[in-house]
Amino acid sequence: MSPKYKRVILKLSGEALAGEKGFGLDEKTLDAIATQVQEISDLGVEVAIVVGGGNFWRGRTGKGMDRTTADYMGMLATVINALALQDALEGIGVSTRVQTAIEMRQIAEPYIRRKAVRHLQKARVVIFAAGTGNPYFSTDTTAALRAAEIEAEIILLAKKVDGVYDSDPNINSSAQKFDELKYIDVLNKGLGVMDSTATSLCMDNKIPIVVFGLNKPENIKKVILGEKIGTLVKEE
Ligand code: UDP
Repeated sequence: MSPKYKRVILKLSGEALAGEKGFGLDEKTLDAIATQVQEISDLGVEVAIVVGGGNFWRGRTGKGMDRTTADYMGMLATVINALALQDALEGIGVSTRVQTAIEMRQIAEPYIRRKAVRHLQKARVVIFAAGTGNPYFSTDTTAALRAAEIEAEIILLAKKVDGVYDSDPNINSSAQKFDELKYIDVLNKGLGVMDSTATSLCMDNKIPIVVFGLNKPENIKKVILGEKIGTLVKEE
C-alpha cells in the first residue's frame, strides 16, 4: 500500500500523550504513537510533529498570572513533551531531531526552516517544540504555520474525539459528525476544531486538515493510506 501524502504535519495535543491519566505522560501511549510514526516514516512519508503542552500547562491555567508569562510556561511544557516523544522514537530506532522556537541549544536545535526540510528529506522525524515562540498563540497555530513553511500537504490533527461534531458528543448523545467541512463553516459555526487563528491560517494557505481520534493510534496510518476517517476540513 502506498501513502497518499509525501510530507505531513502531525499535531499531537499534550492530552494525547497523557493517555487515560489526562495529566503528564503515559509511557504506553508514547510507545504506541512512536510505533505508528515509525510505520508511516517507513512508508517513505516525511513526518514533522508539532506537540502541545496541555497535559502539563496551558496559558489559561495561570488565571491570576501575567498572560505572557503563563504562555511561556505553556511553551516550555511542549518542550518536555517533545523530548519524551523523541526518546520514545529513538528507543525504537527512529532518527529524530527536536527544533525549538525558543533557543535552548543544550537540548535541541533552534528552529531553522531549511534545516528542518533537510532533516525530513533524510527521513528524520522532526519535532517542533515551544510553539511559535510567541505568547497569545497556540500549538494548533504552530501546526498551521509550520505546515505552510515546510509545504506539508496536510495537517493530521489527532484529538480525543474522532472528528468534528455539530455539538459536543460527550454531552449530546445525538451530536452529528461531519465527514467534510469548509474552513469558513468551521469559523462561522464556531466549531471547536482549532482556534480561529489556526483555522484562518490554514484557509489562507489552503492547507487541508484531517481531524481524527487518537484513541486508536493505528488511525495515523489509516489517514496516511487515504482511508476516510474523522473529518476533513478543506476549501471546497
Ligand atoms: N503557547 C504559546 N504560543 C505558542 C504555542 C503555545 O503561548 O505559539 C502556549 C499557550 O499558553 C498554550 C500552551 O503553550 O496554552 C500549550 O499549548 P496548547 O494549549 O496549544 O497545547 P495542547 O492543547 O495542544 O496540548
